[in-house]
Amino acid sequence: MNENLYAILAEGFPADPDAPCLLLGDGRVWSYGDLVHASARIAHLLVELGLVPGDRVVAQVEKSPEALLLYLACLRAGVVFVPLNPAYQRHELAHFIADAAPRLVVCRPQLRPLLEQLLEPFAGERPRLLELDDAGHGSLIDAAAPHGDAFATVARRAQDLACILYTSGTTGRSKGAMLSHGNLAANARVLHAYWRFQPGDVLLHALPIFHVHGLFVASHCALLNGSAMLFEPKFDARRVLQLLPRATVFMGVPTYYTRLLALPEFERAACARMRLFISGSAPLAPETFAEFRQRSGHTILERYGMSEGGMFTSNPYEGERRPGTVGFPLPGTELRIVDEGGEPVAGGAVGGIEVRGANVFAGYWRLPDKTAEEFRPGGWFKTGDLGKIDAEGYVAIVGRSKDLIISGGLNIYPKEIEEVIDALPGVLESAVVGVPDADFGEAVTAVVVRQTNAAGLDEAAVIAALAASLARFKLPKRVVFAAELPRNAMGKVQKNLLRDNLSKP
Ligand code: AMP
Repeated sequence: MNENLYAILAEGFPADPDAPCLLLGDGRVWSYGDLVHASARIAHLLVELGLVPGDRVVAQVEKSPEALLLYLACLRAGVVFVPLNPAYQRHELAHFIADAAPRLVVCRPQLRPLLEQLLEPFAGERPRLLELDDAGHGSLIDAAAPHGDAFATVARRAQDLACILYTSGTTGRSKGAMLSHGNLAANARVLHAYWRFQPGDVLLHALPIFHVHGLFVASHCALLNGSAMLFEPKFDARRVLQLLPRATVFMGVPTYYTRLLALPEFERAACARMRLFISGSAPLAPETFAEFRQRSGHTILERYGMSEGGMFTSNPYEGERRPGTVGFPLPGTELRIVDEGGEPVAGGAVGGIEVRGANVFAGYWRLPDKTAEEFRPGGWFKTGDLGKIDAEGYVAIVGRSKDLIISGGLNIYPKEIEEVIDALPGVLESAVVGVPDADFGEAVTAVVVRQTNAAGLDEAAVIAALAASLARFKLPKRVVFAAELPRNAMGKVQKNLLRDNLSKP
C-alpha cells in the first residue's frame, strides 16, 4: 500500500473531477480535476529538474492556489516540502537555506537577487531557483506547463519525510521539525473524523499556508473530505464576514475572532450556515469565547498542537467546549503532565506537557542532540508547554515552560498574573515576563496595554489592585505600558522580544 500522504488525501477527492476545490475571490474556481492535473505537471517538473525522493524544496511564496499545488506536487514526487514565512528577511533566509540544503528554491520575483546571493555558497551543487508571484504566475508555472497532467504518485512509507516545518522560534532559534507522511496522515484522519467533516462542508480558509494550522490542519481536513475551500489570500475581517454565509467551517487564530467581534455587523445571521468555528495556535481568551457565543450563537472549539506533531488535543465536537481549556487528548495521541524529572504529577498539578503518538514528529532536522534532549525514553516528546488536567480530563495550557519565571527561587506562572491584570478595569491585554535581576534572579515585569479611555491607569494602581488577589512574591516589580504587544503571524505574543527590550540597561 502506498502511504504517500497525497495518495491518502486523494482517497477523499470527489468522484466528479468537476467538483469545486478552491473558490477564489475573483470568481475563479479550481476543480478537483484541475488540482490533480496541475499538481501532476509540477511533479513532472521536479523530476525533470533531477529532484529525487528526500530532496528538499524550499518555498518562500505568498498564499495562492499554485503555492498549494507546489506542496501537493512535492508530496506526489516524494520530495520534502519546506515552506517559509514570506516575512522572513535576509538573515533568517540565510539560516534556513543553509540548514535545509534544498535542491530547488521557489521565491517571489522581487526576492530573486537576494536569493541568488544566498545560493552562491553552494558552488557546484547550486540549487535551482524558480519564481512564483503573488498572483500565482512565474517561471515555476511556465516550466511546468508543457508537462503531462497524469503523474504516478511516488510510493512512500509512513516513516518517509514529507515536510520540514521551521518552528516559529518565539523562544529561541528556529529548528526544522521533520514530519513524515505517516505523521501527517495520522493527524489528518483523526481531525477529519473528530470534527465530523461531512458531505457538503465548505471550509473558509483564510490562514497562511506556511504553517501547521493553515497548511496541514485546514487544508488536509478539506481535501480528505473532498470539500470546497473559500481560499482567501489572507485574513480580512470584512471579507470573512461577507463569505461566512457560504461556509460551514472556519478555522482561525484568536486574533481573527477578536477582529470579527470588532465589526458591529458581525451577528447571528452571518453564521446561519456555519457548523463549526475552530481556534488555536495561541490561547483564546475566555472573554472572546463568551462574547462570540453571545453574538454568533456558536461555541468556538479550541484545540492545541504545534509544528512538531500537528494537533494533540481538542475540545469535544459533541459535549461541553470549555473556555480556557484545549479539551481532551485526541484519539491516537497520549498526553501526560510531568515534573522536571519526567514523573507524572498528581491530579490537577501544573507540569510539563509530554505527548506521544503516530502524529508526533521524528525529530529536528540535522539536530540529533537537540532531538535526543527533547524526547524521553518510551517516545515521549517534551512539548515545552506547561499545563494541567482537571478532574474531568480537560487539558489547560498554562504557558511555555521557557516563559516560567523563577523569582527568589519560587516558580511563577505568567498566565496567572496576566489573567488578573486583564480583568482590571481599563486594561486591554497584558504580558508578564521575567527580567534578569541581581537580587531575585528574575523580576516579574508586566507589560500592559491600556484601553483608549484609561490613560489614568498607572503602575502604582495596577500593583495595588493586584496586591488584593495575588501573593506578594508574584506581584510585578515593574509595570510598563505599551501601545500593543508584539505578535507573530500566528497571533502569538513574542515574549522573547519583550524580555530582550526590558533587559536592556
Ligand atoms: P506552532 O508550532 O507555531 O504551531 O506553535 C505551537 C505552540 O503554540 C504550542 O506549543 C503552544 O505553546 C501554542 N499553542 C497552540 N495552540 C494553543 C492553544 N489553543 N492555547 C494555548 N497555546 C497554544
